[in-house]
Amino acid sequence: MYDKITDYPGKAARFEHGFLYEKNGETGLYKARALLLPGLSHGFSTREGGMSEGPFASLNLHWDKDGCEPDVLENYSRFARGAGLCYEDMAIVNHEHGATVLRLDASHRGRGFDKPPLPFCDGIITNDPAVALVTSHADCGAFFMYDPVSRSIGMAHAGWKGTLAQIGLTMAQAMTREFGADPANVMAAAGPCICPRCFEVDESLADEFAQVFADPAVKLVGRPGLDRSGLDRSGKAHVDLPRCAAIQFMRAGILPEHITLMDACTYEDTAHFFSHRRDRGVTGSMAAFIQLR
Ligand SMILES: [Zn+2]
Repeated sequence: MYDKITDYPGKAARFEHGFLYEKNGETGLYKARALLLPGLSHGFSTREGGMSEGPFASLNLHWDKDGCEPDVLENYSRFARGAGLCYEDMAIVNHEHGATVLRLDASHRGRGFDKPPLPFCDGIITNDPAVALVTSHADCGAFFMYDPVSRSIGMAHAGWKGTLAQIGLTMAQAMTREFGADPANVMAAAGPCICPRCFEVDESLADEFAQVFADPAVKLVGRPGLDRSGLDRSGKAHVDLPRCAAIQFMRAGILPEHITLMDACTYEDTAHFFSHRRDRGVTGSMAAFIQLR
């Protein structure tokens, strides 16, 4: 599953594609092999091992700024335990599908959990091992970044709006500005999200993606691969969000060989993931995290 070649206009870029799936008791985490480094922990949750029921079964980590339901808070405890995180260390984005990135430190521990939510932000960065950066997702992508030299990290919630607004580029630039991170040293990964086969959009939106990313291949229409999947019989436009993630990482100066696209589809994998689109909004959320050790 790793080491597939991905061609981009003008050059061939080699990314890692794929994930490792780690089960810790009842809960599980998707991880990028390239981020399994000393001094770092990270992961993306699955729906297994929680206490929520019905369409929210079972590890629903849907974060609500007005307060999470008791089962979601218990699920976050289980998520933290399975991930080897200290519950009190976690701080979660207050996402608004934008591209705002905030710098956090130990004083932000607990924000969005036992302490008030952060101001609106979709990305958070830190160089402080005391705080674990957390995001929540239900089809929306998760961008992980780590610079082993400046010892700084970033975590972003990147739905199609945040992807189009290039929050990955903004986050890498914020790590450089705040911590002196050299993009050439930064390791980046895009987590599970809705895949190109399943992400059908209006033609005009697909065109906008193709324009912003200066790459016609981010827009897919009626490709043989799409038809064979049985998921697109309509000839509608689709967008390749992981490809858009990789392009904005490279625009930030991150090297292709330091980029991992996990290539797991939240829409298709019902056993592991909630999907806002598949479940027509009545569904739970997964969470992602990164922390310096
Ligand atoms: Zn899919």
